[in-house]
Amino acid sequence: MKIKYRIAVLFTLVVSFILLLLCASIFYFSNLNRAFSFRERIKNRAITTVSLLFKVSGINPNLLRRIDEITQISLDQKSFQIFNSAGNIIYSYADENVTPVPINANILLKAKEKGTYFFNYEGRDVVAVNYTDGDNSYIVVGAAFDKDGFQKLDELKLILLFSFIIGVLITFLSGLFFSERIVHPIQKITKEVKEISSQNLSRRIELKEPKDELYQLSYTFNDLMNRLQESFEIQRRFIANASHELSTPLTAISSQLEITMQNERTADEYKAVISSVYDDVKNLNQLTRSLLEIAKASGTSDGIELSLVRIDELLMRLPVELRKTNAAYNVQLHFDTFPENEDKLLVFGNNDLLFSAIKNIVTNACKYSPDHTANVSLSFSDYELYIIVKDNGPGISQKDLDLIFQPFYRGEEAENKHGFGLGLPLALRIIKMHKGNITIKSTVGQGSQFTIVLPIGRSFHLI
Ligand code: ADP
Repeated sequence: MKIKYRIAVLFTLVVSFILLLLCASIFYFSNLNRAFSFRERIKNRAITTVSLLFKVSGINPNLLRRIDEITQISLDQKSFQIFNSAGNIIYSYADENVTPVPINANILLKAKEKGTYFFNYEGRDVVAVNYTDGDNSYIVVGAAFDKDGFQKLDELKLILLFSFIIGVLITFLSGLFFSERIVHPIQKITKEVKEISSQNLSRRIELKEPKDELYQLSYTFNDLMNRLQESFEIQRRFIANASHELSTPLTAISSQLEITMQNERTADEYKAVISSVYDDVKNLNQLTRSLLEIAKASGTSDGIELSLVRIDELLMRLPVELRKTNAAYNVQLHFDTFPENEDKLLVFGNNDLLFSAIKNIVTNACKYSPDHTANVSLSFSDYELYIIVKDNGPGISQKDLDLIFQPFYRGEEAENKHGFGLGLPLALRIIKMHKGNITIKSTVGQGSQFTIVLPIGRSFHLI
């Protein structure tokens, strides 16, 4: 069932229930009121009857019966009986075709005790009243059928039934109208969302005041779309850059081979071409490895082998490893602020990935500084450890600082240095995967300081 019908039905059910309760109570209290006023009338008539008999001289039971007979209009199907204190009937009157109410000792006793006792007999209201005249006490019983009252009640029942049906109908229609109005913006949002496709990612849902739940929904959706579009854009740029970087050495290789094949060459010439092609292939190999590492480090740490890694041990591998890549690279380790508790040196993560991230940053420090020296130190807080990598290189301009973590971006100072612009983005992805971060402080002409922040092993689960 459509949500708008569901709202309308629910609304109708609730209002119908309230209407029903209202109609039932109106009917119930009207009937109570009818019974109360009618019984008061019978009671007054009963007292009048008994008063006439005992207080007005010259009135005897026959005359009284005559009086009761001729006042037929005021009460319908009436009957009056008077009992003395011994319970014997001393006066009885009943309209034509009406049987007097059978009275037993129990009824007389109740009337005596309560003063006035009401009950029903065959649809008639009956009142038994205790009446005292000097030393004598009597019980007078009056009964009548409230023809007018019941007729009015029947009319009231019809009016209430009619109003109830009309009320339910109006409720359903107005419920439908309001639910349509409530659902309409949702339908609009659905329509707008349907118009967004991967080709049309820049479309957004129109934000309309007031700032209600639907506004919030649209806002959140737009926000999600912004992030999606951004990551689509990054992916698109990445693919374009990657294919450009891959095709450059491939084009170089194929054109070198093509030119070489056009003529007969000397052995030295062939050697030179093979050496140049080899360099390009090495480049290609390095690039594809970096791309594979980036792919591995993208996403979450699910499926990656995790263990407690001792960071000081990891750092100690750096000097040898870097010297292997370039004999001039020099890594200076400064472990003067060693923590008292060695647990602080443990990071929960993947040993190889962490090493690769730190190595990229330290390699840059060596690569870009004229003395090819990187100074690496450690510092600690309660929940985090900091790996600080300092160099005396050219520094990084403010403009470059915002861009160097983007894949394939290379700064001005990188022009004559070998690289692909993938080292820092890869390092950042790995560190983010370990719930850490990389911050940079750099002054152009003086050097840079890269700080890798990592949560220490025992606080990893708190993050
Ligand atoms: P690559 O070093 O291969 O160019 P990276 O992603 O490692 O790629 O670095 C991106 C850019 O950041 C570099 O091209 C360089 O401009 C800048 N950069 C990184 N580290 C340093 C550093 N220590 N000093 C100066 N510039 C740096």
